Amino acid sequence: MEQWINLYRASHSLEAYALKGALEVEGVRVRLSGEGLAGALGELPVDLLQVTLLVCEEDRSRAGRIIERYQQRQGNGWLCGQCGEENGANFDICWRCHHDPHDH
Ligand SMILES: [Zn+2]
Repeated sequence: MEQWINLYRASHSLEAYALKGALEVEGVRVRLSGEGLAGALGELPVDLLQVTLLVCEEDRSRAGRIIERYQQRQGNGWLCGQCGEENGANFDICWRCHHDPHDH
């Protein structure tokens, strides 16, 4: 059974679709959650819509690297205090070791 995990929280739907395209080009299947809100919240700025990208557990590492490259082009990342991996600004936890920098 496939397990879908939250990989990345996009700051708006346009970013989510850009990342979804980048991942799919690499053969990673992506689901978006939150995009259904776009219609209901049509009056609000698109920046207020948070869209989460979900990928299969087995694709997690590969997808993380793809998004990492995307983030490096955008700037703003953080280094994991546990394994030293560089993570994109929108990663809440380290994509490599799952360390949560906020959990101390
Ligand atoms: Zn780490």
